[in-house]
Amino acid sequence: MVRVIKEVYGLRDKKVLDAMLVVPREEFIQKKFRDVAYSDNALSIGYGQTISQPFTVAFMTHLLKLQGKEKVLEIGTGSGYQAAILAKLAKEIYSAEVVEKLGKRAKDKFKKLMINNVKIKIGNGEVVWENKAPFDRILITAGVFKDIPKGIINQLKDGGLLVVPIGDSSGQTMTRITKKGKKIETEEFGTFQFVPYRQN
Ligand code: SAH
Repeated sequence: MVRVIKEVYGLRDKKVLDAMLVVPREEFIQKKFRDVAYSDNALSIGYGQTISQPFTVAFMTHLLKLQGKEKVLEIGTGSGYQAAILAKLAKEIYSAEVVEKLGKRAKDKFKKLMINNVKIKIGNGEVVWENKAPFDRILITAGVFKDIPKGIINQLKDGGLLVVPIGDSSGQTMTRITKKGKKIETEEFGTFQFVPYRQN
């Protein structure tokens, strides 16, 4: 899996690749997919949701430029795999999941794997972790089909980064937003395919 990310996609962020070498992806997928746990594919995790393709996880993590001390908000816990990678590279991860059963499953998984710096809440990621704002980094792992909800930008520190796929059901552009006072700077990084972000 890591060889594909490195050699096929040319992503050579050592910190990110090292994290992906140590987090067992097979723990975050359904048993029936165990033999393809390390292929470069998104997989169903039930409830109409998916665990992202490994390259996509690596790329989003890379875009966040984590140094180790950050407080990160992740919207869309899903399987918990992306959060487990973030947990290796940042200080505290606050993750939100609207599908209650997925959130609970991920919580149990973190307990089992003794990952202690990820906290999960069930509910809309736009509001459930407001008490922990502002965040150094925010990652949305579902496709935002129009505008980024304003409530999310408000929870980003000045100078902080938000990574979010934006588009419609035909594809979303990976977007990195840097907050600079009242302004935001936007960079775009190619097209991806995500399950839709839910407004409530
Ligand atoms: N990061 C996940 C990817 C999960 S797919 C992983 O590594 O497996 C995206 C997830 O976002 C889905 O589980 C979906 O239920 C959740 N989601 C969508 N909109 C949301 C919102 N507004 N708040 C919280 N979770 C949301």
